[in-house]
Amino acid sequence: MILLSNREVLSLLQKYSVIPDKKRGQNFLKDRYIASKIVDAARISKNDRVLEIGGGLGVLSQWLARDSPKLYIIEIESGLVRMLRDVFSDQENVNIIEGDALKVEFPKVNKVVANLPYSISSEITFRILQEIDLDLAVLMYQKEFAERLVAEPGSREYSRLSVDFQYFAYAEKVMDVPSYAFYPEPSVESTVVKIRMRKTGVFAKNEEVFFKFIRGVYSYPNKQLRKALKIWLKNIGADTNQVSLVLNGTKGVSGKERLRSLNQEKLVALSDTISDLITRGRFPPL
Ligand code: SAM
Repeated sequence: MILLSNREVLSLLQKYSVIPDKKRGQNFLKDRYIASKIVDAARISKNDRVLEIGGGLGVLSQWLARDSPKLYIIEIESGLVRMLRDVFSDQENVNIIEGDALKVEFPKVNKVVANLPYSISSEITFRILQEIDLDLAVLMYQKEFAERLVAEPGSREYSRLSVDFQYFAYAEKVMDVPSYAFYPEPSVESTVVKIRMRKTGVFAKNEEVFFKFIRGVYSYPNKQLRKALKIWLKNIGADTNQVSLVLNGTKGVSGKERLRSLNQEKLVALSDTISDLITRGRFPPL
């Protein structure tokens, strides 16, 4: 059967004493076909070690367990952990870790596949990007969040999240998932994306400076660069005349460009100018 009925979901939840908790993003996928498409997108092969975050009722986990030589599932809810342990008791390739995915040590894996709890989307995504030697992740997010991950400079969705994420990785949309594919139905739409680490292109001379600069100016994505820089310098108690130093020292960037339209190359160039100015004592340390 392709779809779990609401009655089947309810009886599983009852058996393991789980009351779906919004705060933990407990909207469980009922549609096994959609789950199989998510797992197909991960192209799991015989050398892969896979991590699932939030196993839930195991609809995704069952396909992952079938295809993965080694599967780790991190789940925070003890009733669901008991259920997953029962379901996978005779599958030696499956390892269930009870705990908070934001805190437990990640196992050594090269792929991550998950229908994430949306309240921790940002934190868990950056944790994955920074702590896992990732070949590929296939992750489901709230639609608007996913749109910001794939957004192009200049578009309405291009935001500080897009800049920070795209510094590390590329995302590509796999599919939208309607809310009726879940129990209980979420009030938001969902989108699955594929994520790979970015290995080419420009990287900042000093990444700490880059992320502080982005955090500082991106509160004003629709402002012209010159204005956004000025406000940021004021906020950090620096001399606003430094704006000209930064702009004159960065080739190919005009102060009239809207911040939102600047691509990674231009943002990195600006950050590198600021790093150089800091080194030469001509800009306050951040
Ligand atoms: N993978 C299942 C599915 O597709 O139906 C469940 C997805 S559900 C959106 C999110 C799951 O993550 C829930 O099972 C929830 O208990 C679990 N979860 C929530 N916060 C978590 C955390 N901080 N660490 C680990 N698991 C968490």
